Amino acid sequence: MTQGEVLLLKLGEVVLKGQNRRSFEDKLVANVRHRLKTCDGSFEVCIRQSTIYVEQVADGCDMEEAVRRCRQVFGVVSVVRAHPCDKEVSAIVECAKTYLAPNFAAAKSFKVESKRADKQFPMNSIQLSIAVGGDLADAFPHVAVDVHNPALTVEVEIREKAAYVHAPALPGAGGLPVGMGGKAVSLLSGGIDSPVSSWMMARRGVQLEMVHFESPPYTSQMAQDKVIALAQALTPYCGPMTIQIVPFTGIQEEIRRQCPEEYFTIIMRRFMMRIAQKIAYRCKAKALITGESLGQVASQTMHAMVATDDVTTMPVLRPVIGMDKVEIIKISQEIGTFETSILPYEDCCTVFTPRHPSTKPKLENIRKAEEAMDIDALVREAVENVKLVKVRP
Ligand code: ATP
Ligand code: MG
Repeated sequence: MTQGEVLLLKLGEVVLKGQNRRSFEDKLVANVRHRLKTCDGSFEVCIRQSTIYVEQVADGCDMEEAVRRCRQVFGVVSVVRAHPCDKEVSAIVECAKTYLAPNFAAAKSFKVESKRADKQFPMNSIQLSIAVGGDLADAFPHVAVDVHNPALTVEVEIREKAAYVHAPALPGAGGLPVGMGGKAVSLLSGGIDSPVSSWMMARRGVQLEMVHFESPPYTSQMAQDKVIALAQALTPYCGPMTIQIVPFTGIQEEIRRQCPEEYFTIIMRRFMMRIAQKIAYRCKAKALITGESLGQVASQTMHAMVATDDVTTMPVLRPVIGMDKVEIIKISQEIGTFETSILPYEDCCTVFTPRHPSTKPKLENIRKAEEAMDIDALVREAVENVKLVKVRP
């Protein structure tokens, strides 16, 4: 760890927020502070000129881990590890020589790029880059100056209180701060798609409440643990969450007793939506999220969506609706849910699957098929027997 090293977090869309910008920035600072609270060391987090500064209050902070965590906070587009110094060419050169010594040792060529947030600084950015670049070229004669295709770009920022020297930024998670986009209930199965759809909506600032349907003894404790592990894997991005685990066995057995086999899946999905919506009302969420992708399986056709939306009044957000499986898998690998998602435990959706599911169900036929059941009572009982599991990073 380099003493005095700071992190500069660059904000993306937050800076476009006009009048709401202040509340977006406050939320983002709070989210960053929250993520660093359990990181080794003591950090001070503040915002100046639309950049978040993460500074070490004392030595011994785990900067490696702090970088990793800050990169996962939605609203942060990039993270730089930087070293502050006086706003003078000689100080900047000295700082680059020591702080970036390992980078210079590994590089064959370099250039300097400068930015001035402090317009009082006497040199413009080109003059500054030339001055600092010249001195660094003398200090590291084995590293050539190459302004077109350098192996190392030394970046210098002249900011309000100090100059900052750093190597190029690392990409952050982007999006908007969680909590700014309202709250939604996300239907989380143990599959690949729903962790990705949850993550995508959280990235737009949505706070998530998870709902999972289980059907013991047809689904196992292992399947439930898997879903908890998936939600847990999302918490570094999405923050602490509650998973509401809904007992679904009774409903599925009732559907099997009362309804035509070809409608099993579609009717089951209608129950899921009704229950999820009830839970959403209860926890003041304003929308539902699913991991449906058009045409992926029989229950994800356009007809099937009409049938499931028939029982909800809330918007149903389906962020992966237009994505191919390979694209969804790529995201799940990047966010770290893939390996858990492919563990081979059964989901309640795979219990009682019809041999020939209807792909173009008629709404009036489905409604009719449900008439034999006491829908309200079944929904009420499921909601009353929900089990809560809290997960945190
Ligand atoms: P996934 O990979 O997310 O499981 P899938 O391709 O297996 O999706 P389905 O099983 O048809 O598709 O489920 C579609 C969506 O319904 C899921 O993405 C999820 O949002 C929701 N869902 C399915 N099963 C459950 C469950 N047991 N609990 C909560 N939500 C579920
Ligand atoms: Mg599934």
